[in-house]
Amino acid sequence: MSDRLPDIHPLSPALQLQPPPLIRFLALPLALAIFAFDTFTNIQGAVAVLYVLVPLLLLGGLSRRGILLAAGACAGLTLLSFALRHGIGAAPAAILRCAIALAAMLITTLLLLRDHASRLALLQANRELSRSEHRYRSIFEQTRFSLFEQDFSAVRKALDALRREGVTDFAAHAAAHPDLVGALAGKITTLAVNDATLELLGARSEAEVVGPAGRFIPAQSPAIFQVLEALFEGRNRFEGKGQLRTLAGQELTVLVGISFPEDAEELKRVVVGIVDITGQERTQQALMAAQAELARASRIATVGALSASIAHEVNQPLGAVVMNAQTCLRWLAQDPPDIAAAARAAERVARDGKRASEIVARTRGLLVRDEAAPDVLDLALLVQEVLGLLEREIAGQGTSIVLDLPSDPARVRAGRVEMQQVLINLVTNALHALSPLERAQQRIEISVSGPKNGLMRLGVRDSGKGIDPADLEKLFSPFFTTKVGGMGMGLAICRATVEARGGQLVARNHPEGGALFEFTLPAADETPEKP
Ligand code: ADP
Repeated sequence: MSDRLPDIHPLSPALQLQPPPLIRFLALPLALAIFAFDTFTNIQGAVAVLYVLVPLLLLGGLSRRGILLAAGACAGLTLLSFALRHGIGAAPAAILRCAIALAAMLITTLLLLRDHASRLALLQANRELSRSEHRYRSIFEQTRFSLFEQDFSAVRKALDALRREGVTDFAAHAAAHPDLVGALAGKITTLAVNDATLELLGARSEAEVVGPAGRFIPAQSPAIFQVLEALFEGRNRFEGKGQLRTLAGQELTVLVGISFPEDAEELKRVVVGIVDITGQERTQQALMAAQAELARASRIATVGALSASIAHEVNQPLGAVVMNAQTCLRWLAQDPPDIAAAARAAERVARDGKRASEIVARTRGLLVRDEAAPDVLDLALLVQEVLGLLEREIAGQGTSIVLDLPSDPARVRAGRVEMQQVLINLVTNALHALSPLERAQQRIEISVSGPKNGLMRLGVRDSGKGIDPADLEKLFSPFFTTKVGGMGMGLAICRATVEARGGQLVARNHPEGGALFEFTLPAADETPEKP
């Protein structure tokens, strides 16, 4: 190890201890005085032992070489004064005294060298620490990501106390105590932030931001609940999406990343990274709103086209039906009635009636004609995609989603977009049915199963008040709605779509409450049958 270390940071005062210059200057006169006493006085003691004071006086101010030199010089003076005083024929007692003095000097030198080595090691460690702190600080300050340094120790204590009270399911406990999340968020303290964070929050100085962090976290932000849950469950990291409130009260959508240290003591200083994605979210929402509007517009257009087409095409067979019915009546009114001719007219009535119903069925098929060549879809993936598309509506309403999806792919043959529309309709209807309820009571279960008898099944069950039994028959009729501003076409189109792919869509009330909508579709491949 080199004696010289590059100076990066001022050393802590404890490591800089050096003898004051005055005391250092005393070392030389002291050595000379001991030499004089030892050589020219007749004291019968081991005066030379006092030489150990010389390197001790210089302690901290000497390098390793300096210590060896000082010790060597003192040993030299001891031997010189021994030679001057006793010469060759020295008495054994004098030799012993000289040996004791040299041994004392040797031991002191070894101790000083050891002290010097540990002092250097400590200096090195201190400098490494300063360097690493310096590096951390410059990353913290200069990065363009928002960083918060926060104290989570009070939250940890409160969560530990909950565990001691016997709480094992944080989500259930938080659902039963709606104020809990806000109260725990209030225990997070911000210690420091970087410039990017000041900019993000619209603050002029750090003083406006440090302190309780709760005021920047909207209580309904899903991320804060998830952060607390991660901490409760002892997970060591969290990444998710949430909301942050600026000083001006504007709500931002942000990505949050936190690594929780293992050591509880270090929870006093946790770094929280934040990336503002409000702009991207807005674009995404605008896109989704445009998509929804397009879907609505195309549905209205389809309904219009459908009615016009039905009216137009059915007119002709209906005219024929009326005409043949009148002919039939005329044959029957004759005296005697011509039964055979009446029967022929009645047969024509039946034929034209059948044709009219075929036209209606074919025109209904127009609704799903868009996707001529169906894809092979995995229903479990479809569920994930639709939950992604409805993420904001679900989070905004605070509805919990419970999934029961198979591990094997649940393949069916249908158009991806059309099946997305079906599932979006079912989940949106469930959300509408749940909206009057408290957050904690809102629950949607989506399950996928099969194949059974060659069919895959998807069910959407909600915890709402269910369907009025009187309405059960009418739900799938076009234009049936119980909603203000509802169009009543959603379920009709869903059923037409599912049936066009060889499946069925049914609705019923679940015995344990809530509505259950289920559809089946033929399984698309050789997925093994479930018992
Ligand atoms: P809209 O949503 O425009 O009313 P839909 O065809 O999608 O049209 O739904 C028709 C009706 O079915 C709704 O108005 C509602 O009365 C009923 N309905 C649909 N889903 C549910 C549900 N999950 N719980 C209770 N009622 C429902």
